Amino acid sequence: MKIAQRVAGITPSKTLAITAKAKELKEQGYDVVGLGAGEPDFNTPQHIIDAAINAMEAGHTKYTPAAGIPELKKAICEKLEKENGLSYKPAQIIVCNGAKHALYNLFQALLDPGDEVLIPSPYWVSYPEMVTLAGGIPVYLAGEEENQFKITPRQLEQAITEKTQALIINSPNNPTGSIYSREELEKIAEICIAKNILIVSDEIYEKLIYDGEEHVSAAALSKEAYDHTVVINGVSKPYSMTGWRIGYAAGNAELIRAMTNLSSHSTSNPTSFAQYGALAALQGPQEALQMMKAEFDKRRKAVVEMLNSVEGIHCLLPKGAFYVFINVSRAMAKGGYRDVDAWSQALLEQQHVAVVPGTGFGAPDYIRISYATSMEKLIKGAERIKKFVEGV
Ligand SMILES: *Cc1c(COP(=O)(O)O)cnc(C)c1O
Repeated sequence: MKIAQRVAGITPSKTLAITAKAKELKEQGYDVVGLGAGEPDFNTPQHIIDAAINAMEAGHTKYTPAAGIPELKKAICEKLEKENGLSYKPAQIIVCNGAKHALYNLFQALLDPGDEVLIPSPYWVSYPEMVTLAGGIPVYLAGEEENQFKITPRQLEQAITEKTQALIINSPNNPTGSIYSREELEKIAEICIAKNILIVSDEIYEKLIYDGEEHVSAAALSKEAYDHTVVINGVSKPYSMTGWRIGYAAGNAELIRAMTNLSSHSTSNPTSFAQYGALAALQGPQEALQMMKAEFDKRRKAVVEMLNSVEGIHCLLPKGAFYVFINVSRAMAKGGYRDVDAWSQALLEQQHVAVVPGTGFGAPDYIRISYATSMEKLIKGAERIKKFVEGV
């Protein structure tokens, strides 16, 4: 079968490759500890489920406006105003089939062939592919562990060319959990404003931050920063609604209109009753989120302590999201592994622990584990990693 070059060049997700192998081992009867998950392990809160059921029963089972139902857009505006100090009109909001789809639409609407997008690494696996699929060129800026994997203003300045259209900021970050401070964002925004570069601010983990850290949206820094930023967010991660596929973008009305036109010819609209569920998530009680966050926090501290006691690997205490990014370079060298893919494969085969190798995040000395799984599994997983690393 002939496959279009545009799509044939896509790298299959590393997460999926490991998941497939883990599934195979499980089917053979092995007790596999999966630490690869990219989604909360809690159920969607009941009041959200009820809202979607009620919406279906009330007949909200038809097409909706391409950019989403007015009630939800209004609720998103209110959320952004109240929690982020950002003032948007509904015409500046598009609801999409997940934050991922919002990002996809954004790059399709923004990029011409050869346009460059600056992507700090380690990065979320989908950014480079989305940029490439839109005809753009991903340009990587290496965030160093010494700087909590964050980029410096100097790195940014050096990477900018006349082709640069956008910079992606993902804070809190997947996979590292790092958070940019207000001061750091101010310096970055100043450069982007001066060079007329759009900041794509992926804030999907905004609610999952620990140790009293503050989430700052780049759009909230100043009027100029607001004009140069598109905020991306959604309900998947904070409300454990990954399967519902509701996310959104907020920004320049002209850009949002272009994204909406694109949606109208591809996906038509995000699922009608899922939008009512998202409405309930934003407007309803927030206790479930607080409970989930408290549980993540406990696991985060416990698993980081266990992992840092293993000779040959180390990790920073993540400040947000639900991942630990672990430096395994010494363990890899000691075991004589070719690369982190081979190391992760061996860990899975010998100790039956599934992790995500850092190659997919642009960080080949690292692995990512998720603590969106039970404490029991985390303890078992950490013990097996210890055996695997110290046993060689
Ligand atoms: C999970 C995730 C998203 C997308 O979430 P949706 O389910 O598509 O809303 C976007 N960015 C990052 C960094 C993520 O980890």
